[in-house]
Amino acid sequence: EREWPRPDRCRVITIANQKGGVGKTTSSVNLAASLAMHGAQVLVVDLDPQGNASTALGVDHHAEVPSIYDVLIEDMAMADIVVPAPEIPNLFCAPATLNLAGAEIELVSKVARESRLRRALDAYETEKFDYVLIDCPPSLGLLTVNALVGGDELLIPIQCEYYALEGLGQLIRTVDLVKAHLNQKLKVSTILLTMYDARTRLAAQVAEDVRNHFGDVVLNTVIPRSVRVSEAPSYGQSVMTYDPGSSGALAYSEAASEMAHGGSAQ
Ligand code: ADP
Ligand code: MG
Repeated sequence: EREWPRPDRCRVITIANQKGGVGKTTSSVNLAASLAMHGAQVLVVDLDPQGNASTALGVDHHAEVPSIYDVLIEDMAMADIVVPAPEIPNLFCAPATLNLAGAEIELVSKVARESRLRRALDAYETEKFDYVLIDCPPSLGLLTVNALVGGDELLIPIQCEYYALEGLGQLIRTVDLVKAHLNQKLKVSTILLTMYDARTRLAAQVAEDVRNHFGDVVLNTVIPRSVRVSEAPSYGQSVMTYDPGSSGALAYSEAASEMAHGGSAQ
């Protein structure tokens, strides 16, 4: 169907996994695009100094652009940095610039250093959005902690490769610490299996292990490995507009539909 149900309240979903290259950014961008294309108002917060989510959404993020760095470090308002993503109506982005790399250190001496993103989101009318998706850098530093404190839900993308589960224990321990001390509401709501290669026995085995371990928070939809998915960012597009009929676009649309319809444990 064209329009999906919209949540009663804005869902703030942090997309984290301290491993690099597991599909955090790809999933943030394409889930956000799918949700927006089905009638939701969606904001992507780019919290990675590389700014890959900004790039993939076609949003300018050269050094002078007002960015999430200014929000976290200079107390700028979210409203002053959020811009529309040019390709898709209802989709917005809080861009990241390279100076965000320094924020990891600069945050250390700030008051309420773990809660600065939460405060900025609280001060912003996030209620006009149905979803806020926060794309994290590949570390468990203060930027990711800010995202865990700022979110209500955690989505963990897991690449269907050897060593996929390595490091997840550390991530879950960090989540438990954040829950105990900084954000009681946080819950692992969604796990998404990414870069699935149906030809390999290994991918099937990893998927089975993840399902056995995490149960029904794992989305039924798995994202296949697809060249179109990896090409889209260089055109400043999500795969949803770059090649809507591709296997990757269809899978991301299915996964987003599961999220919108409460397919994972809410
Ligand atoms: P992360 O944000 O976790 O570091 P990315 O989303 O940037 O990971 O993905 C890592 C790389 O893998 C990127 O080059 C991306 O284009 C590619 N990639 C991600 N998902 C897929 C997929 N389903 N099929 C093919 N390539 C993918
Ligand atoms: Mg990334």
